[in-house]
Amino acid sequence: MNFYDSEKMSDLLKHHGYTLDNNINNADLIVINTCHIREKAVEKTYSELGRIRDCINSREEKTGKKSIVAVAGCVAQAQGKEIMRRSPWVDIVVGPQSYQNLPELIKKVDPLIKNRHLDIDFPVIPKFDSLNNQIYRRNVSSFLTIQEGCDKFCSFCVVPYTRGSEYSRPAQSILDEAKKLIDSGVKEITLLGQNVNAWNSQGSDNKIWGLGRLIEELAKIKELQFIRYTTSHPLDMDLELIEAHRDVTKLMPYLHLPVQSGSDKILKLMNRKHTSSQYIKIIEKVRTHVPKIAISGDFIVGFPGETQQDHQDTIDLIKEVNYSQAYSFKFSIRHGTPAARLKNQIDEDIKSERLYEIQDLLSLQQLAFNKMSINTTSNVLVLRCGKKDKQYLGKSPYNQSIYFKSEIKDLIGSTVDVTITQAFQNSLSGKIR
Ligand code: SAH
Ligand code: SF4
Repeated sequence: MNFYDSEKMSDLLKHHGYTLDNNINNADLIVINTCHIREKAVEKTYSELGRIRDCINSREEKTGKKSIVAVAGCVAQAQGKEIMRRSPWVDIVVGPQSYQNLPELIKKVDPLIKNRHLDIDFPVIPKFDSLNNQIYRRNVSSFLTIQEGCDKFCSFCVVPYTRGSEYSRPAQSILDEAKKLIDSGVKEITLLGQNVNAWNSQGSDNKIWGLGRLIEELAKIKELQFIRYTTSHPLDMDLELIEAHRDVTKLMPYLHLPVQSGSDKILKLMNRKHTSSQYIKIIEKVRTHVPKIAISGDFIVGFPGETQQDHQDTIDLIKEVNYSQAYSFKFSIRHGTPAARLKNQIDEDIKSERLYEIQDLLSLQQLAFNKMSINTTSNVLVLRCGKKDKQYLGKSPYNQSIYFKSEIKDLIGSTVDVTITQAFQNSLSGKIR
């Protein structure tokens, strides 16, 4: 989602006369977009800010030019004042719901006087309606945010505080943006939301549409070839969406459905509002409709109070589901969330041990899944060049990276049939048929 927001900010600033410069040492304006989901991501913000300070100081020494520094995103939202205090070289702090105000905030900053501005309000007019939706340049595969914020309040998570309450963009505004993306050459769209499958909005027939219906509608756009979405919540996995997986060929057979833990005790403490068997039933229902769908997930190990038995329950769940890929994290204390106040915090060493164990198992499952692709052929959108000579990269329907070679120049944006010849831990390689 931050990637999408960064592109939006870049479009917005281009509209106001800025051009993108990949060399930080030349930049008049540096915008750093930040993530607050885990402590490590926050630490990165401060270390990156230190690097930026060195760059802008040396630019000023050499050229006399002062760069403007803006911090955007969820760390800005949660720790705006702290950033201003710790990093006096930061001029602007802007939350994820207010970056549409960036051009105005920049205008107010005078590099000579160094006025500083903090804008971390949750505006009454949602940002998408006040953003100038001009699209400048996109890769052939693009993100499109359709839903933001969250009302579920899992006890470990900062999202409801940093991104605000659940908001679904109107269907028409999404369809309009999708058409603009497609006009600019996009062939694949990944719909984004913190709980993307909670999306709902009134459609053109005045009925309330859910994500499944929206996907059906998007699939009608001829030039759009591939549709994906992320991230889903188990409780919002309705039949319409499952049926869309069965019926809409443009919708890729990949479902990222985080569960976090396999222990009902921990799920309750996490306030996930479902049990492990309810989660498994949802997966079974999905697989009944779409037998070959790839399932991925998220796991948190070492949540406060997690015993060896709770950890074993997670391992059992992983074995039962059999994931094609997954993300797993050590529980990270986020101040202000209920889980931060829980007693029985788990030792870092134990968290590490459990994380390794889970990641070993998930890696085995991923490799086994990848190996099943050998000798299969998929229609693949060519996304970009690989690092090797004449090498290209695409994604399989199941979200695996596929590398293949071709003598043909400028293949990016075309679709080709690729037969998989080799499977690795994190990628596949194949030959164009
Ligand atoms: N809305 C999605 C997840 C969004 S956050 C869902 O409910 O599934 C992305 C992932 O970050 C989560 O699935 C979780 O695994 C991880 N995460 C969030 N807060 C965390 C924390 N405090 N410590 C460790 N991992 C966390
Ligand atoms: Fe965070 Fe997802 Fe839970 Fe919302 S549903 S609070 S985004 S983990």
